[in-house]
Amino acid sequence: MKFAMIGAGAMGLRYGILLQEAGNDVTFIDTWQPHIDKIREQGGVYVSRDHEDRHLTEIKLETPETYDDDPDMYIFFTKQMQLADFLKRCAHFFKPNQYAFTCMNGMGHIEKLQQYFADDKIIAGTALIATVLNGPGDVDFMGKRGAGKMNMANLTEKPDEMTHRLFDELDKAQMHPTLTTNFKGTLMTKVIFNSVINTLCTLFEIQMGEFGNFDKAYDLGRQLIDEAYDICERAGITLVSTRDEEMAALDHNTRIDMPLHYPSMYQDMIHDRPTEVDYINGYIAELGREHHYEAHTHIFLTNLVHLSEYHRANE
Ligand code: NAD
Repeated sequence: MKFAMIGAGAMGLRYGILLQEAGNDVTFIDTWQPHIDKIREQGGVYVSRDHEDRHLTEIKLETPETYDDDPDMYIFFTKQMQLADFLKRCAHFFKPNQYAFTCMNGMGHIEKLQQYFADDKIIAGTALIATVLNGPGDVDFMGKRGAGKMNMANLTEKPDEMTHRLFDELDKAQMHPTLTTNFKGTLMTKVIFNSVINTLCTLFEIQMGEFGNFDKAYDLGRQLIDEAYDICERAGITLVSTRDEEMAALDHNTRIDMPLHYPSMYQDMIHDRPTEVDYINGYIAELGREHHYEAHTHIFLTNLVHLSEYHRANE
């Protein structure tokens, strides 16, 4: 298949390079000038796995202004707050028959994609795949080859031929996809997961295992999960895990699967970039308001993350 990756940061590079290695035609489109300059200067991207085997990988790289091709599918991996600008800059090459796929964290991106792509061309999902951009032109795929897994669903909840082709390519690239027909529930289950791990580990600048091994981790997680699940029930969203299954996934992911990993929100905080908290805990709180439920804990955490961002910006 022919793909264009919109956003060549940590996850764009991970998906794009693995799809390229699985035999697909992949072009990366990015706007961060120091990253673009570094990739051109060194003739590719330095890729490591768990800090080891650092090697140069050649990629095709364009900017929104220079890209001029006709891919089957765009894969969006920007931060939530960057997406509207990327879409605006890329709109001149979008065509009605092309698909948009994304596994970005948080919520807010789907409505933006719908402004440029028809509903039956939008596929989205969630990725439990950890990747770190060390700096311009240098990425670290965390976990051994084949580590991680992902979910995907069509916005229409009706998988078509292109969905199955994408699934097969992701499978060949060892991303371990699962195809569901519950769009909102699939995405929201991950938003809720991130609302605990990403936010608390970022606030306290700790690895996931340091959270999971804390003896009150269950209580902290349960409070956030209960609020979010109550809201989803009111909103009529059927989540793909029960409350207990979500708690078990939190425990397993933090203590067993990725104890040494810092979540992606933490990477933004330490680099003094804005975080996606408004699209994670903030989104849950907003959904609660729409259904006359005050998500006190999610609102409090959203404000704490903004306090930390504010403090760092004024240091
Ligand atoms: P990223 O920040 O690495 O890259 C996103 C964009 O920001 C790219 O265009 C990149 O070039 C640019 N960028 C990177 N560093 C920058 C800097 N210092 N200044 C200016 N621009 C910069 O983002 P990502 O980690 O690839 O995340 C993309 C989406 O995937 C997000 O929604 C994220 O939450 C989600 N996600 C990330 C991970 C992960 O482990 N990284 C896992 C699952 C989901």
